[in-house]
Amino acid sequence: MQNATETILEIDLNALGHNYRYLTSKIEKTTKVLAVVKAFGYGSDANVIAKELVDLGVDYFAVAYSSEGEALRDQSIETPVLVLHPLPGNFNMIVERCLEPSIYSRRMLTQFIAFAESKKQEHYPIHLKFNTGLNRLGFSEDDLDWITETLKKTNAVQVRSAFSHLAASEDLSEAEFTQKQIGQFRTISEKLIAALDYKPLLHTVNTSGIINYPEAQFDMVRTGIGLYGFGNDSEENKHLKPIATLKTVISQIHKIQPGESVGYNRAYTAKDVERTATLPVGHADGLSRAYGNGTGWVSIHGKRAPIVGNVCMDMVMIDVSNIDCQEGDEVVVFGANPSAEDLSGAIGSIPYELLTAISQRIKRVVCRK
Ligand SMILES: *Cc1c(COP(=O)(O)O)cnc(C)c1O
Repeated sequence: MQNATETILEIDLNALGHNYRYLTSKIEKTTKVLAVVKAFGYGSDANVIAKELVDLGVDYFAVAYSSEGEALRDQSIETPVLVLHPLPGNFNMIVERCLEPSIYSRRMLTQFIAFAESKKQEHYPIHLKFNTGLNRLGFSEDDLDWITETLKKTNAVQVRSAFSHLAASEDLSEAEFTQKQIGQFRTISEKLIAALDYKPLLHTVNTSGIINYPEAQFDMVRTGIGLYGFGNDSEENKHLKPIATLKTVISQIHKIQPGESVGYNRAYTAKDVERTATLPVGHADGLSRAYGNGTGWVSIHGKRAPIVGNVCMDMVMIDVSNIDCQEGDEVVVFGANPSAEDLSGAIGSIPYELLTAISQRIKRVVCRK
């Protein structure tokens, strides 16, 4: 751990290892682990995270788009990569870089088979995605006969896995709905396996699913947010360690006289003599404008310092009237305190959004605490 001299996103690989071991302790030893490293590894650094996960023994990776899979291949990562949301325009890259597409519609299956045949592929691994209630991407149960008939006519592709995605695995008040999703996925996969003469891997749970529905782990689990240190509920968060800390420094301290304003549009007016600190991080870095005017805060020497006025593109001003600090001192935007959950919660958001919004211009610094 180093003292920040500029804005950095510190990534603790020991925390990643801790989270990986905690999550895998919740499942059977034989269950495979797919790590979701989309969106730059939830805003951290997908390449660094993926390499560490390879060392930890991960079985699969998933990304949203094929370009994210290509970036992993460019770093010589050879683990299978599931592309969750490919489009027909990506098929060339997918096959060239040995990425494995999620096939979620009749149009996709038809076009991917035609593409794989044109490239003289045999048994190219594909993953069939079934919609069981999220209503986002996926075949419906009614497509099963069409799918198996279509697959029987070609040997260009092979179903490596069949999967579905839960809509509300973190929300126990939706347990009945989730059980229905799991039940429907079980039915679909049994019918699929009966129609194919081989057994693809089955998987449906994400991080909250691992925690709340371990009985639905099937052959593999897909974990994203848990690896990065969040479990979607405060009890589970206690067992996980956030891997990312967004740190910055005080660039300048101003003494503000009563009646003077701070920042754009004069959104804040001082009532007393106050001290503000200007930080080199702004909404272009992922610190949303919604955190302005006291909604968000940072921590300096463990003390809470609220944001004053509007968040600027590259800077933010904070109230340090009651904090003993000086120019150059380190500031924690989020990490242990405030956590990404505390901060994002202040604007009605979630850690997923705050973490993935951290701009690529912020330097990533890897450490092991
Ligand atoms: C993003 C994603 C995941 C990971 O979910 P977490 O809640 O971050 O564990 C799993 N499966 C699919 C289909 C996803 O899109």
